[in-house]
Amino acid sequence: MSQDKPQQGRRIAVLTSGGDAAGMNMAIRSVTRSAIDHGWEVYGVQEGYAGLIAPREQGKIRRLRARDVGGILDTGGTMLGSARCPEFADPEVRRRGVANLESMGIDALVVIGGNGSQTGAHVLHEDGVEVVGVASTIDNDLLGSDITLGADTACNVALDAVDKLRVTATSHRRASIVEVMGRDCGYIGLTVGLACGAEAIALPEVDMSPEEVATRIEDAYRRGKKHAVVVVAEGATHGGAALERILIDEYGERIGFELRATILGHVQRGGAPTVFDRLLGARFGAHAIDCLARGETGVLVGLRGRAVQTTPLSEIIGKIKPLDMSLVELARVLAR
Ligand code: ADP
Repeated sequence: MSQDKPQQGRRIAVLTSGGDAAGMNMAIRSVTRSAIDHGWEVYGVQEGYAGLIAPREQGKIRRLRARDVGGILDTGGTMLGSARCPEFADPEVRRRGVANLESMGIDALVVIGGNGSQTGAHVLHEDGVEVVGVASTIDNDLLGSDITLGADTACNVALDAVDKLRVTATSHRRASIVEVMGRDCGYIGLTVGLACGAEAIALPEVDMSPEEVATRIEDAYRRGKKHAVVVVAEGATHGGAALERILIDEYGERIGFELRATILGHVQRGGAPTVFDRLLGARFGAHAIDCLARGETGVLVGLRGRAVQTTPLSEIIGKIKPLDMSLVELARVLAR
Protein backbone atom coordinates (compact mmCIF):
# COMPACT_ATOMS: atom_id res chain seq x y z
CA MET A 1 0.00 0.00 0.00
CA SER A 2 1.26 3.43 -0.70
CA GLN A 3 1.50 5.72 2.27
CA ASP A 4 0.00 8.57 0.28
CA LYS A 5 -3.40 6.88 -0.07
CA PRO A 6 -6.12 8.73 1.77
CA GLN A 7 -6.48 7.02 5.13
CA GLN A 8 -9.83 8.38 6.31
CA GLY A 9 -12.63 6.09 5.18
CA ARG A 10 -10.22 3.41 4.06
CA ARG A 11 -11.71 -0.08 3.89
CA ILE A 12 -9.90 -3.15 5.13
CA ALA A 13 -10.93 -6.76 5.72
CA VAL A 14 -10.03 -9.39 8.28
CA LEU A 15 -10.34 -13.18 8.15
CA THR A 16 -9.42 -16.21 10.24
CA SER A 17 -8.18 -19.30 8.45
CA GLY A 18 -7.06 -22.87 9.12
CA GLY A 19 -7.40 -24.37 12.57
CA ASP A 20 -9.22 -22.14 15.05
CA ALA A 21 -7.28 -20.94 18.07
CA ALA A 22 -8.32 -19.27 21.32
CA GLY A 23 -7.50 -15.58 21.15
CA MET A 24 -8.54 -15.20 17.51
CA ASN A 25 -11.66 -13.38 18.68
CA MET A 26 -9.59 -10.91 20.66
CA ALA A 27 -7.45 -10.35 17.57
CA ILE A 28 -10.56 -9.73 15.42
CA ARG A 29 -11.85 -7.29 18.03
CA SER A 30 -8.51 -5.54 18.18
CA VAL A 31 -8.14 -5.30 14.39
CA THR A 32 -11.68 -3.96 14.10
CA ARG A 33 -11.57 -1.37 16.84
CA SER A 34 -8.01 -0.23 16.09
CA ALA A 35 -8.98 0.32 12.44
CA ILE A 36 -12.14 2.17 13.46
CA ASP A 37 -9.91 4.34 15.64
CA HIS A 38 -8.08 5.32 12.44
CA GLY A 39 -11.38 6.27 10.83
CA TRP A 40 -11.43 3.15 8.63
CA GLU A 41 -14.22 0.76 7.74
CA VAL A 42 -13.71 -2.89 8.60
CA TYR A 43 -15.17 -5.95 6.87
CA GLY A 44 -15.14 -9.45 8.31
CA VAL A 45 -14.73 -12.33 5.87
CA GLN A 46 -16.55 -15.43 7.02
CA GLU A 47 -14.99 -18.88 6.71
CA GLY A 48 -11.48 -17.84 5.75
CA TYR A 49 -10.33 -18.01 2.15
CA ALA A 50 -13.47 -19.98 1.23
CA GLY A 51 -15.53 -16.90 2.13
CA LEU A 52 -13.13 -14.61 0.31
CA ILE A 53 -13.57 -16.42 -3.01
CA ALA A 54 -17.32 -17.09 -2.62
CA PRO A 55 -19.67 -15.20 -4.97
CA ARG A 56 -20.46 -11.74 -3.55
CA GLU A 57 -24.18 -12.49 -3.32
CA GLN A 58 -23.49 -15.13 -0.67
CA GLY A 59 -22.69 -12.24 1.64
CA LYS A 60 -19.57 -13.72 3.21
CA ILE A 61 -17.90 -10.32 3.50
CA ARG A 62 -19.76 -8.11 5.95
CA ARG A 63 -19.17 -4.82 7.68
CA LEU A 64 -17.91 -5.07 11.26
CA ARG A 65 -18.66 -2.21 13.57
CA ALA A 66 -17.34 -1.77 17.09
CA ARG A 67 -20.42 -3.36 18.63
CA ASP A 68 -20.28 -6.37 16.32
CA VAL A 69 -17.09 -7.52 18.01
CA GLY A 70 -18.40 -7.09 21.56
CA GLY A 71 -18.91 -10.00 23.95
CA ILE A 72 -16.46 -12.30 22.21
CA LEU A 73 -13.13 -11.83 23.93
CA ASP A 74 -13.66 -14.56 26.50
CA THR A 75 -14.60 -17.24 24.00
CA GLY A 76 -12.36 -19.62 22.09
CA GLY A 77 -12.86 -20.28 18.39
CA THR A 78 -13.50 -17.52 15.92
CA MET A 79 -16.65 -15.43 15.45
CA LEU A 80 -15.86 -15.22 11.72
CA GLY A 81 -15.68 -18.96 11.31
CA SER A 82 -12.81 -20.71 9.67
CA ALA A 83 -12.44 -23.21 6.86
CA ARG A 84 -9.87 -25.07 4.88
CA CYS A 85 -9.82 -24.07 1.24
CA PRO A 86 -7.20 -26.04 -0.69
CA GLU A 87 -8.25 -24.49 -4.01
CA PHE A 88 -6.88 -21.16 -2.80
CA ALA A 89 -3.46 -22.37 -4.05
CA ASP A 90 -4.82 -21.93 -7.59
CA PRO A 91 -4.09 -18.38 -8.89
CA GLU A 92 -7.33 -18.38 -10.94
CA VAL A 93 -9.35 -19.10 -7.81
CA ARG A 94 -7.49 -16.42 -5.83
CA ARG A 95 -8.36 -13.89 -8.51
CA ARG A 96 -12.01 -14.28 -7.51
CA GLY A 97 -11.09 -13.22 -4.00
CA VAL A 98 -9.11 -10.23 -5.24
CA ALA A 99 -12.05 -9.22 -7.45
CA ASN A 100 -14.44 -9.47 -4.48
CA LEU A 101 -12.25 -7.16 -2.40
CA GLU A 102 -11.84 -4.68 -5.26
CA SER A 103 -15.56 -4.61 -5.97
CA MET A 104 -16.16 -3.61 -2.34
CA GLY A 105 -13.42 -0.96 -2.33
CA ILE A 106 -11.39 -2.96 0.21
CA ASP A 107 -7.68 -2.34 -0.23
CA ALA A 108 -6.05 -4.48 2.46
CA LEU A 109 -6.52 -7.74 4.32
CA VAL A 110 -5.47 -9.05 7.74
CA VAL A 111 -5.06 -12.84 7.80
CA ILE A 112 -5.17 -14.45 11.24
CA GLY A 113 -3.94 -18.02 11.07
CA GLY A 114 -1.15 -20.57 11.02
CA ASN A 115 1.39 -21.88 8.56
CA GLY A 116 -0.95 -22.77 5.71
CA SER A 117 -2.94 -19.56 6.11
CA GLN A 118 0.20 -17.43 6.01
CA THR A 119 1.31 -19.25 2.86
CA GLY A 120 -2.02 -18.16 1.40
CA ALA A 121 -1.38 -14.63 2.67
CA HIS A 122 2.03 -14.63 1.03
CA VAL A 123 0.78 -15.67 -2.41
CA LEU A 124 -2.08 -13.19 -2.14
CA HIS A 125 0.45 -10.47 -1.40
CA GLU A 126 2.43 -11.55 -4.43
CA ASP A 127 -0.80 -11.22 -6.41
CA GLY A 128 -0.77 -7.54 -5.41
CA VAL A 129 -3.07 -7.48 -2.37
CA GLU A 130 -1.88 -5.63 0.70
CA VAL A 131 -1.81 -8.30 3.35
CA VAL A 132 -0.64 -8.47 6.94
CA GLY A 133 -0.57 -11.83 8.71
CA VAL A 134 -1.20 -12.44 12.41
CA ALA A 135 0.56 -15.52 13.81
CA SER A 136 -2.16 -17.73 15.25
CA THR A 137 -2.09 -21.48 15.64
CA ILE A 138 -2.27 -23.79 18.62
CA ASP A 139 0.63 -25.78 17.10
CA ASN A 140 3.15 -22.95 17.64
CA ASP A 141 5.07 -24.10 14.59
CA LEU A 142 5.20 -20.75 12.81
CA LEU A 143 8.53 -19.02 12.39
CA GLY A 144 8.47 -15.29 13.11
CA SER A 145 6.74 -15.61 16.48
CA ASP A 146 8.28 -17.13 19.60
CA ILE A 147 4.78 -18.14 20.55
CA THR A 148 1.68 -18.02 18.39
CA LEU A 149 -1.77 -16.88 19.40
CA GLY A 150 -3.75 -19.79 20.87
CA ALA A 151 -0.84 -22.04 21.82
CA ASP A 152 -0.87 -21.00 25.48
CA THR A 153 -4.58 -21.73 25.88
CA ALA A 154 -4.30 -25.10 24.12
CA CYS A 155 -1.45 -26.08 26.42
CA ASN A 156 -3.39 -25.01 29.50
CA VAL A 157 -6.49 -26.95 28.46
CA ALA A 158 -4.41 -30.06 27.74
CA LEU A 159 -2.51 -29.69 31.00
CA ASP A 160 -5.73 -29.37 32.96
CA ALA A 161 -6.99 -32.62 31.37
CA VAL A 162 -3.73 -34.45 32.09
CA ASP A 163 -3.77 -33.28 35.72
CA LYS A 164 -7.26 -34.73 36.07
CA LEU A 165 -6.29 -38.00 34.41
CA ARG A 166 -3.41 -38.30 36.83
CA VAL A 167 -5.77 -38.18 39.80
CA THR A 168 -7.75 -41.18 38.63
CA ALA A 169 -4.61 -42.96 37.35
CA THR A 170 -3.13 -42.70 40.85
CA SER A 171 -6.19 -44.26 42.50
CA HIS A 172 -6.01 -47.30 40.24
CA ARG A 173 -2.25 -47.46 39.79
CA ARG A 174 -2.59 -46.92 36.08
CA ALA A 175 -0.45 -45.33 33.46
CA SER A 176 -2.22 -42.70 31.39
CA ILE A 177 -1.13 -42.31 27.81
CA VAL A 178 -2.44 -38.99 26.59
CA GLU A 179 -2.32 -37.89 22.99
CA VAL A 180 -2.24 -34.13 22.48
CA MET A 181 -2.54 -32.09 19.28
CA GLY A 182 0.14 -30.29 17.32
CA ARG A 183 0.22 -31.89 13.87
CA ASP A 184 3.89 -32.41 12.97
CA CYS A 185 5.10 -30.15 15.76
CA GLY A 186 5.75 -31.38 19.30
CA TYR A 187 5.35 -28.01 21.01
CA ILE A 188 2.12 -28.82 22.88
CA GLY A 189 3.39 -32.30 23.76
CA LEU A 190 6.68 -31.01 25.11
CA THR A 191 5.14 -28.10 27.01
CA VAL A 192 2.41 -30.20 28.59
CA GLY A 193 4.74 -33.14 29.23
CA LEU A 194 7.25 -30.94 31.02
CA ALA A 195 4.58 -29.07 32.96
CA CYS A 196 2.88 -32.27 34.19
CA GLY A 197 6.10 -34.16 34.93
CA ALA A 198 5.39 -36.91 32.42
CA GLU A 199 7.42 -40.08 32.72
CA ALA A 200 7.88 -40.05 28.97
CA ILE A 201 7.14 -37.58 26.19
CA ALA A 202 6.90 -38.83 22.63
CA LEU A 203 7.48 -36.13 20.02
CA PRO A 204 7.74 -36.16 16.24
CA GLU A 205 11.07 -34.31 16.45
CA VAL A 206 12.68 -36.84 18.80
CA ASP A 207 13.48 -40.41 17.86
CA MET A 208 12.18 -42.55 20.71
CA SER A 209 11.16 -46.15 20.12
CA PRO A 210 8.02 -47.70 21.69
CA GLU A 211 10.43 -50.01 23.52
CA GLU A 212 12.11 -47.02 25.19
CA VAL A 213 8.78 -45.50 26.20
CA ALA A 214 7.63 -48.85 27.60
CA THR A 215 10.87 -49.19 29.56
CA ARG A 216 10.38 -45.76 31.13
CA ILE A 217 6.86 -46.66 32.26
CA GLU A 218 8.11 -49.98 33.59
CA ASP A 219 10.94 -48.26 35.48
CA ALA A 220 8.46 -45.88 37.09
CA TYR A 221 6.40 -48.86 38.23
CA ARG A 222 9.46 -50.57 39.70
CA ARG A 223 10.43 -47.41 41.56
CA GLY A 224 7.07 -47.64 43.29
CA LYS A 225 5.31 -44.79 41.56
CA LYS A 226 1.55 -44.78 41.95
CA HIS A 227 0.95 -43.59 38.43
CA ALA A 228 2.70 -42.71 35.22
CA VAL A 229 1.85 -40.26 32.51
CA VAL A 230 3.02 -40.53 28.94
CA VAL A 231 2.33 -37.53 26.74
CA VAL A 232 2.25 -38.35 23.05
CA ALA A 233 2.20 -35.63 20.42
CA GLU A 234 -0.17 -36.56 17.61
CA GLY A 235 2.65 -36.51 15.05
CA ALA A 236 4.73 -39.05 17.01
CA THR A 237 3.61 -42.14 15.15
CA HIS A 238 5.61 -45.30 14.42
CA GLY A 239 5.25 -46.84 11.02
CA GLY A 240 1.93 -45.03 10.71
CA ALA A 241 0.56 -46.54 13.93
CA ALA A 242 -0.35 -44.46 17.00
CA LEU A 243 2.12 -44.99 19.83
CA GLU A 244 -0.61 -45.60 22.43
CA ARG A 245 -1.92 -48.53 20.36
CA ILE A 246 1.54 -50.08 20.09
CA LEU A 247 2.15 -49.66 23.83
CA ILE A 248 -1.14 -51.27 24.80
CA ASP A 249 -0.99 -54.09 22.24
CA GLU A 250 2.68 -55.01 22.50
CA TYR A 251 3.83 -53.95 25.96
CA GLY A 252 0.62 -53.99 28.03
CA GLU A 253 1.44 -57.28 29.74
CA ARG A 254 4.94 -56.44 30.90
CA ILE A 255 4.69 -52.85 32.08
CA GLY A 256 3.13 -53.35 35.52
CA PHE A 257 0.73 -50.45 35.32
CA GLU A 258 -2.57 -50.94 33.60
CA LEU A 259 -2.43 -48.76 30.52
CA ARG A 260 -5.22 -46.38 29.52
CA ALA A 261 -5.11 -44.20 26.45
CA THR A 262 -6.90 -40.89 26.04
CA ILE A 263 -6.94 -38.79 22.90
CA LEU A 264 -7.73 -35.23 23.94
CA GLY A 265 -8.53 -34.09 20.40
CA HIS A 266 -10.55 -30.98 19.75
CA VAL A 267 -11.24 -30.25 23.39
CA GLN A 268 -7.86 -28.51 23.26
CA ARG A 269 -9.22 -25.92 20.86
CA GLY A 270 -12.25 -25.10 22.95
CA GLY A 271 -10.88 -23.35 25.99
CA ALA A 272 -11.54 -19.76 27.01
CA PRO A 273 -8.42 -17.81 26.02
CA THR A 274 -5.88 -17.34 28.79
CA VAL A 275 -4.77 -13.89 29.93
CA PHE A 276 -1.64 -14.42 27.84
CA ASP A 277 -3.60 -15.14 24.65
CA ARG A 278 -6.03 -12.29 25.24
CA LEU A 279 -3.18 -9.82 25.56
CA LEU A 280 -1.40 -11.32 22.59
CA GLY A 281 -4.55 -11.10 20.46
CA ALA A 282 -5.06 -7.47 21.48
CA ARG A 283 -1.45 -6.54 20.75
CA PHE A 284 -1.18 -8.49 17.49
CA GLY A 285 -4.42 -7.05 16.11
CA ALA A 286 -3.45 -3.46 16.90
CA HIS A 287 0.02 -3.99 15.46
CA ALA A 288 -1.44 -5.35 12.21
CA ILE A 289 -3.39 -2.12 11.83
CA ASP A 290 -0.27 -0.05 12.58
CA CYS A 291 1.49 -1.97 9.80
CA LEU A 292 -1.28 -1.20 7.32
CA ALA A 293 -1.30 2.46 8.37
CA ARG A 294 2.39 2.84 7.61
CA GLY A 295 2.28 0.73 4.45
CA GLU A 296 4.20 -2.23 5.83
CA THR A 297 2.63 -5.27 4.17
CA GLY A 298 3.60 -8.79 3.17
CA VAL A 299 4.64 -9.33 6.78
CA LEU A 300 3.70 -11.53 9.69
CA VAL A 301 2.95 -9.96 13.08
CA GLY A 302 4.46 -12.06 15.87
CA LEU A 303 6.10 -11.95 19.27
CA ARG A 304 9.90 -11.83 19.53
CA GLY A 305 11.06 -11.81 23.11
CA ARG A 306 8.58 -9.44 24.74
CA ALA A 307 8.08 -7.22 21.71
CA VAL A 308 5.53 -7.47 18.93
CA GLN A 309 7.48 -7.43 15.68
CA THR A 310 7.07 -8.20 12.02
CA THR A 311 8.86 -10.66 9.74
CA PRO A 312 8.49 -10.73 5.94
CA LEU A 313 6.13 -13.56 4.97
CA SER A 314 8.66 -14.59 2.32
CA GLU A 315 11.09 -15.50 5.10
CA ILE A 316 8.77 -17.76 7.06
CA ILE A 317 6.62 -19.70 4.61
CA GLY A 318 7.45 -23.31 3.94
CA LYS A 319 9.46 -23.51 7.16
CA ILE A 320 8.71 -24.96 10.56
CA LYS A 321 9.90 -23.48 13.83
CA PRO A 322 12.29 -25.91 15.52
CA LEU A 323 11.53 -27.25 18.98
CA ASP A 324 13.65 -26.11 21.94
CA MET A 325 15.69 -29.28 22.44
CA SER A 326 17.06 -28.07 25.79
CA LEU A 327 13.52 -28.52 27.17
CA VAL A 328 13.42 -32.10 25.88
CA GLU A 329 16.54 -32.82 27.89
CA LEU A 330 15.19 -30.98 30.94
CA ALA A 331 12.00 -33.06 30.85
CA ARG A 332 14.09 -36.25 30.72
CA VAL A 333 16.24 -35.17 33.68
CA LEU A 334 13.26 -34.18 35.83
CA ALA A 335 11.23 -37.36 35.23
CA ARG A 336 12.74 -39.48 37.99
P1 ADP B 1 -3.19 -23.40 9.29
O1 ADP B 1 -3.24 -22.03 8.75
O2 ADP B 1 -3.81 -23.52 10.64
O3 ADP B 1 -1.79 -23.99 9.21
P2 ADP B 1 -3.95 -25.05 6.96
O4 ADP B 1 -2.59 -25.60 6.77
O5 ADP B 1 -5.08 -25.96 6.83
O6 ADP B 1 -4.13 -24.34 8.40
O7 ADP B 1 -4.13 -23.86 5.91
C1 ADP B 1 -5.29 -23.07 5.93
C2 ADP B 1 -5.64 -22.61 4.55
O8 ADP B 1 -4.58 -21.80 4.00
C3 ADP B 1 -5.81 -23.70 3.51
O9 ADP B 1 -7.05 -24.35 3.58
C4 ADP B 1 -5.69 -22.88 2.23
O10 ADP B 1 -6.87 -22.15 1.99
C5 ADP B 1 -4.60 -21.88 2.59
N1 ADP B 1 -3.32 -22.36 2.06
C6 ADP B 1 -2.53 -23.32 2.57
N2 ADP B 1 -1.46 -23.54 1.78
C7 ADP B 1 -1.59 -22.70 0.71
C8 ADP B 1 -0.82 -22.43 -0.46
N3 ADP B 1 0.30 -23.09 -0.73
N4 ADP B 1 -1.26 -21.49 -1.31
C9 ADP B 1 -2.41 -20.81 -1.06
N5 ADP B 1 -3.17 -21.02 0.02
C10 ADP B 1 -2.78 -21.94 0.90
